[in-house]
Amino acid sequence: MTDSKPTANFIRNIIDEDLKNGKNDGRVVTRFPPEPNGYLHIGHAKSICLNFGIAQQYGGSCNLRFDDTNPVKEDIEYSEAIKADVSWLGFQWNELHHASDYFDQLYDFAVQLIKADKAYVESSSAEEMRTMRGTLKEPGKPSPYRNRSIEQNLDLFERMKNGEFEDGEHVLRAKIDMASGNINMRDPTLYRIRKVEHMRTGDKWSIYPMYDYTHCVSDALENITHSLCTLEFEDHRPLYDWVLDELQTPSHPQQIEFARLSLEHTMLSKRRLIQLVEENLVDGWDDPRMPTIIGLRRRGFTPEALRDFCERIGITKNDAWIEMSVLETCMRDHLNRDAHRRMAVLDPIKVVITSLDDNHEQELTFSNHPQDESAGSRPIPFTKEVFIDSDDFSEDPPPKYQRLVPGGEVRLRGCYVIKCNEVIKDDTGKVIELHCTHDPDTLGKKPEGRKVKGVVHWVSAKHGVPAEIRLYDRLFTEINPAKAESFADAINPDSRTIMASAIIEPSLAAAEPETHFQFERLGYFVTDRHDHKPGTAVFNRAVTLRDTWAK
Ligand code: ATP
Ligand code: MG
Repeated sequence: MTDSKPTANFIRNIIDEDLKNGKNDGRVVTRFPPEPNGYLHIGHAKSICLNFGIAQQYGGSCNLRFDDTNPVKEDIEYSEAIKADVSWLGFQWNELHHASDYFDQLYDFAVQLIKADKAYVESSSAEEMRTMRGTLKEPGKPSPYRNRSIEQNLDLFERMKNGEFEDGEHVLRAKIDMASGNINMRDPTLYRIRKVEHMRTGDKWSIYPMYDYTHCVSDALENITHSLCTLEFEDHRPLYDWVLDELQTPSHPQQIEFARLSLEHTMLSKRRLIQLVEENLVDGWDDPRMPTIIGLRRRGFTPEALRDFCERIGITKNDAWIEMSVLETCMRDHLNRDAHRRMAVLDPIKVVITSLDDNHEQELTFSNHPQDESAGSRPIPFTKEVFIDSDDFSEDPPPKYQRLVPGGEVRLRGCYVIKCNEVIKDDTGKVIELHCTHDPDTLGKKPEGRKVKGVVHWVSAKHGVPAEIRLYDRLFTEINPAKAESFADAINPDSRTIMASAIIEPSLAAAEPETHFQFERLGYFVTDRHDHKPGTAVFNRAVTLRDTWAK
């Protein structure tokens, strides 16, 4: 599903050129290759939209492949969540694979490299290997084990596989060039010993292939044509090509790098996000303040908005920070178009309209969407007592305040103009009730002989339903929280405000989980996926109506 015609970018230009030249027999096959070591974040959404979007645009296909080569950190919980996220974003993979499906083939290919004298078993310690690797300015030194015989290497590698050695005793290295200007080419490690259980292969393997070796071979086995990855892999591309050239795999995918997404006021790295979860700085991976796909989803962001965001930021070769407001604008644009309007009062004060009978009941009709007649309308009950938001009344108003003040008038949205005659307070001086009278000649009509500028939202006290409304803001005050001394210090103390005694209009109580609304004057909200149930109304604010951070 593409929302609109995708804009050109350098990757689409490369593919257009390939197709023109008849490369890959006209096929376009991409893949999205997450490691199942955490939940996906919005940076992954960029990669998902790119890979799946390209497959759609060219009538090709896109695989979902779990890069599960590091058993210590991986878990089925994560791979299941990743599948759900990709589907929720609106994409369907062609084939589902795991790098672990290729462990046998990867092993055989490694034996092939040893037989061709292109790989050897290294028995130096990690520290010794580091020293011999050299630096950006100095070439590396060959290891004393570099010239082991092929027979010896084959024997040792097989015994590594059979579990005869402990973690760290040996590794298998490619034999490339210890003097290469590219450190990745200085005999990189292909296999390490890890005597741990793998989430899919159990205890079958004592050795696991490294990412750089696994990734290119998996791409080739799946006949991927364009292997799209982020810029940090640019220096790994010579190794990607070296492995495939040496193995003479039937297909040789083309690796193309693009800039990763960096988003202000948050962090896009599973490793860091897991820290927030483990240190209980947030309420789990789907905390609505998290930049994870499930967090954004729970917050009220929609797949349409996330896809639109990925399209708007585009694909380039230059790393750049994107402002959070770009994402929020996509959200507002989508929900402004699609969300039905409702009224809710976050922090209620009671307004008693003394000019009405005690049992006054009046049914007003409100349209669900001012720009979309097809959205229909709903009844709103008006009664003698209504709630308005405490923000909409002030005894000591700042200049230009247009809401309710003692002795002043305001319009109840879609209803009458009321005048505040009396302010009732409790013992502590807190305002608990406003006594007002209404002007019966102002329903759908301007008042005679005077201007009433302010309009406030309201809910009938008799028919309104209690709700918990959670207001969210950016999780971090810092633009780049990864640089902060500690995450705890960088967290925005106002990132979550719970309005526990909100009142919502009656029609909202029956809303299904994950339904989006605009609460008039307050922003865009969604029913909480987990906590909103019959009898318990819980809403999250996805985004305010306007950008409140733009100063
Ligand atoms: P993290 O550091 O968050 O774990 P990663 O790159 O290690 O990220 P992977 O699971 O390996 O995560 O990523 C799967 C794919 O998503 C990779 O192709 C990777 O390049 C891409 N990706 C990850 N983060 C971003 C990002 N911020 N912007 C764009 N693409 C990303
Ligand atoms: Mg990773």
